[in-house]
Amino acid sequence: MDFGIGERGQALRAEVRAFLKEHLTDELAERCHRTGVAHDDAFVRAMHEAGLLALGWPEEWGGRPCDPLGLSVVEEELSKAEAPTYGVSTTHMVARAILRCGNDRQRAEIIPRAVRGEILIVLGFTEPECGSDLAAARTRAVRDGDEWVINGSKMFTTNAHIGDYVFLLARTGTTSKHEGLTVFLVPADQPGIEAQAVRTISGERTNITYYRDARVHDDWRIGDVGGGWRVLGEALQEEHSVGFGASMLRLLEAAEGWARTARGNSGRPRITDPDVRERLGRCAAEAEVSLLLQRRAAAMAGQGVVPVAEGPMAKLFSSEALTRAAEDLFDLLGPDALRGHLSPGAPEGGRVEHALRFSLGTTIYGGTSEIQRGIIARRGLGLPR
Ligand SMILES: Cc1cc2nc3c(=O)[nH]c(=O)nc-3n(C[C@H](O)[C@H](O)[C@H](O)COP(=O)(O)OP(=O)(O)OC[C@H]3O[C@@H](n4cnc5c(N)ncnc54)[C@H](O)[C@@H]3O)c2cc1C
Repeated sequence: MDFGIGERGQALRAEVRAFLKEHLTDELAERCHRTGVAHDDAFVRAMHEAGLLALGWPEEWGGRPCDPLGLSVVEEELSKAEAPTYGVSTTHMVARAILRCGNDRQRAEIIPRAVRGEILIVLGFTEPECGSDLAAARTRAVRDGDEWVINGSKMFTTNAHIGDYVFLLARTGTTSKHEGLTVFLVPADQPGIEAQAVRTISGERTNITYYRDARVHDDWRIGDVGGGWRVLGEALQEEHSVGFGASMLRLLEAAEGWARTARGNSGRPRITDPDVRERLGRCAAEAEVSLLLQRRAAAMAGQGVVPVAEGPMAKLFSSEALTRAAEDLFDLLGPDALRGHLSPGAPEGGRVEHALRFSLGTTIYGGTSEIQRGIIARRGLGLPR
């Protein structure tokens, strides 16, 4: 398998870098850091105007051709720069689910606006009592004429406080655990929905959301009543295929920057110290493996093969490698590593401190490491449950 990104990939990389140089200003990066919100309407509109938002979408929906490997290069650049694109990824993930399982009205009303960056769709799967075992969802939707009435609560609905729609998993039947679930696209701006802020250890703002007689028209049911598990299946596969190789590269750059300027007891730059070089080398090797695993999953998708185990391998390895690297480099910097972004004189703007906090969440969202290992064992190795 050829993992080279080729001339087209290089050109795309240069295009994204030029875009980021112009639009990811220090002011925007600072705001995202302070608020913990990885979404910005103006930035997303600028991505659309630069032709980057439509990448990989079918041309009939206003898309711009791009194969999965090209898309993974774009993802790498956005993620390395910590561009505020979390809202774009959830919106496009749902728009792709609507393309596959939605009706004509849903496609016509949602997809063009998603491709132009005009709407923000958030994911309402996890509940206070169930995250990994999503099929245990208790939030109920009860039919009332042409509408459904929703009651319950969802945990970690990131961006719910600024979203236009929630892609909501709800229980509509009691016949069986998996067949009693239905997915809706619920308008977020209504009195029956309340979003309360939750700050994670990494500083991200997410939400607990409460549904009290919230309403959604049956036209906004995605797929069949009781068919929610199937609708969710492919969307979750996408979540399970994310990777953090680019975040490791950013951490590596920060640690290398520190090592070139900081001086040890001998007065020589720390980069000359064998221990420092060994740790940087380990991080570089694991970043490379992470990126190759991510590209393999992308290449398989490009060949029409669903990377059922290979996507989880990329997510599992890269998130745990990022955590290992962050711990290792944190250790290397010593007490200075504790100085965060807002602390004056923090090494490399507090990147190592932030990387350690950020890395912990990556092993949880999009399916925890234990869940990924279970998928690899069952679907990759064919082991019994
Ligand atoms: C920053 C952040 C953002 C998030 N954003 C969203 C979002 O936008 N929308 C959304 O719906 N959710 C979101 N989540 C939720 C996330 O997907 C869940 O936290 C995750 O799926 C784990 O669920 P849980 O927290 O309920 O943990 P649990 O499922 O209760 O797991 C607890 C522990 O038990 C382990 N465990 C559970 N089941 C098994 C098993 N079968 N085998 C082995 N071990 C197991 C887990 O690995 C974990 O260590 C977000 C989470 C975070 C941290």
